[in-house]
Amino acid sequence: MSSPTFDCTACGACCFGGHDRYVALLPEDRGRAIPASATTEIEGRRYMSMACGHCAQLTVTAEGATLCAIYEDRPTACRAFRAGSFECLKARQHRGHEAEALRAFAMAQTQPAPPPPGTAPVMVPGAGMAPPEAPVIPSP
Ligand code: SF4
Repeated sequence: MSSPTFDCTACGACCFGGHDRYVALLPEDRGRAIPASATTEIEGRRYMSMACGHCAQLTVTAEGATLCAIYEDRPTACRAFRAGSFECLKARQHRGHEAEALRAFAMAQTQPAPPPPGTAPVMVPGAGMAPPEAPVIPSP
């Protein structure tokens, strides 16, 4: 859930966790469309799979926002995490920089690679030229 101040579909700080049992699935999650491939079983209980220190379902959109890939079907534990709550503020304080780094890394991957050193600049016809001047109309 989002608040006017905190946007749960752009932050992602609370999706970072340091262990594989960070997001436990509860019995009420059985009715949710959570792909089995997004979860892992540890000692008889199911958890959201983690990758690189965050839930593997955390993605970065083309606009550069961190967003849960299964947001509409996210587990009960995630839904209980209220925007602006004490836990939310703690997550932003301790994990916000990791979410920011993930966004920056993902956006850097979408940028075209710079040309190799020594490559001649590409000339684009018309680039850098002054616009044509307006025609001069002789006075009568
Ligand atoms: S299921 Fe979605 S909201 Fe929950 S921790 Fe994973 S990415 Fe975050």
